[in-house]
Amino acid sequence: MAAHDFDPLAARSDLPAAPILPEGATLNAGRPLTSIPGPSVIPERVLAAMHAPMPNIYEGALVEMSERLLAELPQLAFTDGEAFIAIANGHGAWEMALTNTLSRGDRVLVLESGRFAVGWGNQAAMLGCEVEVLAAPARRGVDPAALEERLRADGGHAIKAILVVQIDTASSVVNDIPAIRRAIDAVGHPALLMVDCIASFACMEFRMDAWGVDVTVSGSQKGLMVPPGLGFVWASQKAIAAHREAGLRTAYWDWTARMGGGAHYMRYCGTPPVTHLYGLRAAFEMIAEEGLENIWARHAVMAHAVRSAVAAWSAPGGLEFHIEDPAARSNAVTTVLTGGVDAIRLRALAEQEAGLTLGVGLGDFQDRAFRIGHMGHMNPPQLLGTLGTIEAVLHAMGAPMGGSGVAAAAAALSGALHAGRVTTAGMRGG
Ligand SMILES: *Cc1c(COP(=O)(O)O)cnc(C)c1O
Repeated sequence: MAAHDFDPLAARSDLPAAPILPEGATLNAGRPLTSIPGPSVIPERVLAAMHAPMPNIYEGALVEMSERLLAELPQLAFTDGEAFIAIANGHGAWEMALTNTLSRGDRVLVLESGRFAVGWGNQAAMLGCEVEVLAAPARRGVDPAALEERLRADGGHAIKAILVVQIDTASSVVNDIPAIRRAIDAVGHPALLMVDCIASFACMEFRMDAWGVDVTVSGSQKGLMVPPGLGFVWASQKAIAAHREAGLRTAYWDWTARMGGGAHYMRYCGTPPVTHLYGLRAAFEMIAEEGLENIWARHAVMAHAVRSAVAAWSAPGGLEFHIEDPAARSNAVTTVLTGGVDAIRLRALAEQEAGLTLGVGLGDFQDRAFRIGHMGHMNPPQLLGTLGTIEAVLHAMGAPMGGSGVAAAAAALSGALHAGRVTTAGMRGG
């Protein structure tokens, strides 16, 4: 079938006429779904674990659980370094990373590939660092060759830190962190490599030590499936050494007290985030049960299904990928440009009449882009529900469409279903 033959709205002669929804009625009943790139869907198991009374915060089960969580965090990032839990969102974790490693007047190089690294760099500027932005080409990821060239020109090693995101949640690009490390090593530059993994952690492969990352930052509300409120920072030994010299250290964020040895509550510079820690405990159990590498693989399949849908929908005057290079499209979020289709109306229709919340196009393309979050606690019914609802809305708006994204996504998922492996025991009714 050629693309121009695609007409799923054509009446089928073997079915009665479509039912008419009365004026004022909508399809928006049942469980609403938020398919935005964070906060992501929180598992019932995490929510249930959080529904607990306050414990003794000075000794006993809470302290033991907290120490275990802090001990497990480095394993999740594949590092021998230190891990810190900040009672903060991602922005707070950013600030913890900066204040613990840098001094006033330090030069910081921001590798921009959307919006988020720039936001982190703006914090550094406000703290008194000299911030320089190296922008990626439009609709692309960071260019390691451009970084290498810039570092080669910094023979005096004025640049103390390089800030980059693994996934930029606005553009939906995934940056090649090992290639960025190779560019730094090619010049033998000593700057700290600091990576924001807020949108990528527990979604896409990340190996802090093997990839030569000095500081890693993440948050609870994306791939980690816990409500917003916890930030995470991992520090290599090189970052800890920089910490000892850092002039921006503040009483609250300071790593030294948080590294332990004293009273347990100083790990958090005060009362621990008890309820969030219970949720994190449950999320870590779920991650251990599924396996981190299986989680990465699941995200890859789901993202492939989303991209199959967007590719099928794409049409002149209609939808297209924001990120041009197929290899640079992330497995956690997809930014879709909508051409002549009003993206604000598209999101409003999906939310108000169908119970689906989609991500806004960030920045200057609010009204001609939307984002699909496909991170964390997500399975095919959720994903196909999201894609099917978008497709229904596109039909309702008369958007140009190359073909059915839902059909393409279902076909993409089918490749990951093991028809030969399934067990049917217990599947028959009484
Ligand atoms: C969500 C996000 C942030 C911001 O996190 P907050 O918790 O909203 O402060 C920063 N960087 C990236 C890459 C993100 O996806």
